[in-house]
Amino acid sequence: MNNLSNPATIRGLMSKHGFRFSKTLGQNFIIDDSVCPKIAELSGAAKDVCALEIGPGFGVLTAELAKRCGKVLAIDIDKRLFPVLSETLAGCDNVEVICGDVMKTDLNAMIRERSGGLRVIVCANLPYYITSPVIMRILESKLPVKSVTVMVQKEAAARICAPIPSRQMGAVTVAVRWHSEPKLLFEVPPESFMPSPDVTSAVIRLDVRSTPPVNVADEAMFFKVVKAAFSQRRKTLLNCIASGFALEKARAAELLSKASVPASVRAEQLTLRDFAAVADIFSGGVY
Ligand code: SAM
Repeated sequence: MNNLSNPATIRGLMSKHGFRFSKTLGQNFIIDDSVCPKIAELSGAAKDVCALEIGPGFGVLTAELAKRCGKVLAIDIDKRLFPVLSETLAGCDNVEVICGDVMKTDLNAMIRERSGGLRVIVCANLPYYITSPVIMRILESKLPVKSVTVMVQKEAAARICAPIPSRQMGAVTVAVRWHSEPKLLFEVPPESFMPSPDVTSAVIRLDVRSTPPVNVADEAMFFKVVKAAFSQRRKTLLNCIASGFALEKARAAELLSKASVPASVRAEQLTLRDFAAVADIFSGGVY
């Protein structure tokens, strides 16, 4: 197959198959031939690994994963891509292309039935309109995956990989850190895509944890506290917790004091241990 990151190859395939990019589906394809080998290399691809790719597009990253992995499962929502993929991935016998919406597909069943018992990693140039929902779905479904290497918008990457505590952090930072250890790998400029997006992108890798970084009595309560704490970024923790849990301020202050967490701080100043301490007070029956 011709070089799939060559714009002339992409234009040729588009004209042959009558394909047009869908902005709604976040179709910005890689045209920089240094990017996909680097993503595949840094993803942990290996012969004893099955890579789950979300959104193969014309197969530029798929082909790099196929060279390095025992198996590739590539899922794309756009049926129009399938005739193109049968042509571009013709020589790749270890690739299985599946038509489906990553947000609706039972990924656990897919891995169980099709990964051939190999270790599983996720690797993708994600459609930007669902970056965080996809990442959170993968992490929260507790898929048996070792790592998640994905290209996202630079701003999303910064938020996801932000230190805790820090001004850049948000609820997604805490949620991702709960399930994994994130690492910012490298940036990719808009010119590396066709069509060129308005934003800079970045590749991140999340190494999935086998156990959470802090102990809590009730994980659901931990996330309820995190959600409430970040619900109004400019307000104090006291105000956010009081409104998030429908409590009188005096009662909320009393509970925060029991958790030894200052009420006047903002969520961005808290550590994972602080969120856990608040959650444990709330799930201890006092709330
Ligand atoms: N991997 C190719 C590349 O790097 O050039 C294409 C990446 S493009 C940014 C995103 C891909 O995700 C597109 O092929 C698009 O059709 C697909 N996609 C969009 N929404 C999806 C969804 N909900 N489920 C699965 N695939 C989706």
